[in-house]
Amino acid sequence: MSIDYKKYIASIKDFPNEGIIFRDITPLLQDGEAFRAATHDIAEYAKSRHADVIVGPEARGFLVGTPVAIELDVGFVPARKPHKLPREVESAAYDLEYGSNVLEMHKDAIKPGQRVVICDDLMATAGTLRATKELIERLGGKLVGAAFYIELTDLKGREKFPDVDIFSLVQYH
Ligand code: AMP
Repeated sequence: MSIDYKKYIASIKDFPNEGIIFRDITPLLQDGEAFRAATHDIAEYAKSRHADVIVGPEARGFLVGTPVAIELDVGFVPARKPHKLPREVESAAYDLEYGSNVLEMHKDAIKPGQRVVICDDLMATAGTLRATKELIERLGGKLVGAAFYIELTDLKGREKFPDVDIFSLVQYH
């Protein structure tokens, strides 16, 4: 069944900073049918990429990626903000549409050669994608796709990664 996902995404002007339109996925998560459909559509994409493991960046990537991993019966790896993971990590810095941060993954999180699909709520500048891709590749994984509920097309994230297969459920200009 096809779902009009935009009906379940709230748009909030000037949050958290002036000039940003915040795309809020919580109405989608609150609706069982829409959440299940979004999970299923992304799982079908990840399956088509033959994913061995799903990586989700903190924090909304956890919400998007974990149900996908369960549906596909593959593992889930969190890419976390600094000082959260207790063992040896790889780190990569990244810029956001607003602000900057660092992401970390445990050094043993990906097995060499594993096919990885990144799942997150939204691609804006693709800074998060850049950092997550770097971590996956440093750990020996093969990034075979990146899936988002939302893609902000004006920020041209897709064009920055012509070698990455990118999938999104909805797009905003
Ligand atoms: P980016 O690294 O620029 O692609 O930004 C991606 C992350 O920042 C996403 O995972 C979102 O959680 C968050 N983000 C950036 N811009 C927005 C926005 N306009 N609305 C909601 N979340 C956003």
